[in-house]
Amino acid sequence: MKALQYRTIGAAPEVVTVPDPEPGPGQIVLRVTAAGVCHSDIAVMSWPAEGFPYPLPLTLGHEGVGTVAALGAGVSGLREGDAVAVYGPWGCGVCAKCAEGKENYCLRAEELGIRPPGLGWPGSMAEYMLVDDARHLVPIDGLDPVATVPLTDAGLTPYHAIKRALPKLLPGSTAVVIGTGGLGHVAIQLLRAMTAARVIALDVSEEKLELARRVGAHEAVLSDARAAARVRELTGGTGAEAVFDFVGVEPTVRTAGAVAAVEAEISIVGIGGAALPVGFGHLPFEVSVSAPYWGTRGELIEVLSLARTGAVSVHTETFSLDEAPLAYERLHAGEITGRAVILP
Ligand code: NAD
Ligand code: ZN
Ligand code: ZN
Repeated sequence: MKALQYRTIGAAPEVVTVPDPEPGPGQIVLRVTAAGVCHSDIAVMSWPAEGFPYPLPLTLGHEGVGTVAALGAGVSGLREGDAVAVYGPWGCGVCAKCAEGKENYCLRAEELGIRPPGLGWPGSMAEYMLVDDARHLVPIDGLDPVATVPLTDAGLTPYHAIKRALPKLLPGSTAVVIGTGGLGHVAIQLLRAMTAARVIALDVSEEKLELARRVGAHEAVLSDARAAARVRELTGGTGAEAVFDFVGVEPTVRTAGAVAAVEAEISIVGIGGAALPVGFGHLPFEVSVSAPYWGTRGELIEVLSLARTGAVSVHTETFSLDEAPLAYERLHAGEITGRAVILP
């Protein structure tokens, strides 16, 4: 089969031919119908050889939707042809966090060498994909694969962050979304569907701000040195009760801190590597700062349920598997509006 692999540190990913996967006991092979392109893959492909955490070559793709093509011995609850989404942050399935459905925070994944597909284990950017266990699959029940695949990360990750902040997002409150790309443009829609908060979107690109407005942001502000003052002004000086930073670089975490209201919830979701110091004199009183990772399996089911109501519509741009390297180039250049989706 064809697969998109990251093979050489620092080089672009390549379309190659690899053996079709065979399901071992308890495993499932999916015929991939859609695979999402996440900015995290670009971060992975920028890491140096020293300390690179995954074995190479690595088949990319940690957002996946497909149909069940083959079942390994002992798999029950699934039938060939079932359309499913892959819950990506695999855990051990046994520890206390996994028992809560929080496999994203599995206590033993690192020790046991368990990695998400596309982030260590072969991912979804291939004609077929091997899934380790039936519990990693969620039936999509009639949803469109292309519109649904970004929800497994670009939907689930903001959903998890927003759900944590819900007690702060009362009527009259403000939520700030920094970076309205793949994750951010879904975050705006989730905020509109789940809260009565006023949503202020920030981005460096006028085109992304236009998308932000189209998907429901009340205000769209250019993310520059004056952005924080503008958000303060828009909130009558109070600031925002919740801030979601989908970039995570120095200027954006600084903006996140500068727009936070007293007791605000700041979620740094972007893996730009910047830190936001907490302590007296740094931030308004009782601001909480967190760096959440992905979401739970239960939350993925909730996100898909919300999508079924029509409340979330991901803007997608599709590419064939042969064009997948181009999709990464374009994402890197800031030229994807919404989410790029590969059709293997
Ligand atoms: P994306 O490229 O689709 O979107 C990023 C957006 O940020 C773009 O619209 C870009 O114009 C904008 N941007 C860049 N610099 C900015 C600035 N200074 N101010 C405001 N906006 C700016 O990326 P994505 O796939 O949505 O991923 C967003 C981030 O989230 C990445 O860092 C990614 O690695 C990370 N991520 C984290 C998790 C997690 O679990 N924590 C999960 C998925 C992705
Ligand atoms: Zn991702
Ligand atoms: Zn676990």
